Amino acid sequence: MKRADVIVVGAGPAGITAATAAARHGQSVLLLDDNPRAGGQIWRGGIEPPSKLAKKGEDAKRGRALYDLASSGATLLTGYRVFDAPAPRTLHALRETGGDPEVVALQYDHLIVATGARERFLPFPGWTLPGVFGAGGLQALVKGGFPVRGKRVAVAGSGPLLLAVAAHLLQYGAHITSVAEQASLSQLAPFAASLWSSPAKILQGISYRAALGSTPYRTGSWPVSAIADEATGFLKNVRFTDGAKTWDEPCDMLACGFHLVPNTELASLLGCNLRGDFVEVDELQQTSVANVYCAGEPTGIAGLEAALLQGEIAGLACAGQKTGSLRARNTAQQKFAARLETAFRLRPELRSLPALDTIVCRCEDVPYENLAGRSGWTEAKLQTRCGMGPCQGRICGPATQTLFGWTPKSIRPPLFPVPVSALCFHDSQQKSI
Ligand SMILES: Cc1cc2nc3c(=O)[nH]c(=O)nc-3n(C[C@H](O)[C@H](O)[C@H](O)COP(=O)(O)OP(=O)(O)OC[C@H]3O[C@@H](n4cnc5c(N)ncnc54)[C@H](O)[C@@H]3O)c2cc1C
Repeated sequence: MKRADVIVVGAGPAGITAATAAARHGQSVLLLDDNPRAGGQIWRGGIEPPSKLAKKGEDAKRGRALYDLASSGATLLTGYRVFDAPAPRTLHALRETGGDPEVVALQYDHLIVATGARERFLPFPGWTLPGVFGAGGLQALVKGGFPVRGKRVAVAGSGPLLLAVAAHLLQYGAHITSVAEQASLSQLAPFAASLWSSPAKILQGISYRAALGSTPYRTGSWPVSAIADEATGFLKNVRFTDGAKTWDEPCDMLACGFHLVPNTELASLLGCNLRGDFVEVDELQQTSVANVYCAGEPTGIAGLEAALLQGEIAGLACAGQKTGSLRARNTAQQKFAARLETAFRLRPELRSLPALDTIVCRCEDVPYENLAGRSGWTEAKLQTRCGMGPCQGRICGPATQTLFGWTPKSIRPPLFPVPVSALCFHDSQQKSI
């Protein structure tokens, strides 16, 4: 049995600062992540771009955070995915490394859930074609060595991530044909104006935009279909609209994501209250469940600074330390999150993008026509297997929420598909780690 004073799930920026802060104040800390390395989405390790990105500040932050973690005394366990919380203060995690899967039970006094966010995908005709990627997904592939040099890439969807992705892909040699943001200029203008108090965010936006040069950034525009080359079956063209006119854009790839969705499944399984889509926390990042804290994107989509700050607050709180001035800064970050949500609110037209035969649940091949008219998520699952494939509703769940207003009624273990042996695991079989 391995136990720790504090267990942190998720080694993104929030989890890293949480683990560091708690360990520095004398707590035994285990930090788990399902990736091979710490860093989360933004600091995902990989092959460096051929030319330096204009983000020295961010690189320095990453280096500093990873150095602080390494010297804090916290233990980092990578490749472990938490899939169950079978008893109070107990988690089960699975590690699959090519050999026999390894299941471990972990016990804690305090838990910090720092599970981050994922992209929201919305179905439209052709969205499952080869050549169509999630925006952050393509960025992650490229960091891992996937070649885009010389490829024409259209970037579309919603949220600040689009510009970051476009600037990244450009660095790796892609030709960005355009960036299409579904939010209208009138929605974005107040948000842009409100950034006066966050010069770092303005500078980041300017540096991304400058990197893109004359590439068009079209607000109030969105993809309506992706069209395949008849001979190869690969994407050859994306049709866009601005609501008044449509146009086609020939491209080799489409990188498309509609802002982010918080990963709240583990917190929900633990019984934490949600407020809207997000985990409800108090000013110390404590959830409604005693000794369970939550930090970073599951509590609100607010970006890197907020994740770092909230992680530190949660780690200090678990160690019984004061968090004074950090909390005031966090309040400002929460206001930023609220403005972000308003600015990138999805337009109603996106709900009518799918055709009757457009696949909505791509794990189980469930088309739109089999879902329309159902009473909700539970009936859709029972009657069509929507959400019952390997992603366990992580992709089609948020899509059906946007299309039909459905929300899942309950979260059940396992949180991720696991081998049967993992389900048969009992605490008597626990391996020491
Ligand atoms: C695909 C994607 C790409 C992004 N790219 C950028 C970018 O280029 N620039 C930018 O400014 N912002 C980017 N962001 C936003 C950025 O992630 C946030 O601003 C912020 O850094 C989030 O930090 P976090 O620690 O809350 O979450 P994350 O960085 O998401 O870290 C959460 C970690 O928890 C792990 N995890 C989740 N569930 C489990 C589990 N059950 N068991 C074990 N581990 C688990 C995840 O794999 C992940 O490593 C991106 C977001 C996404 C979703």
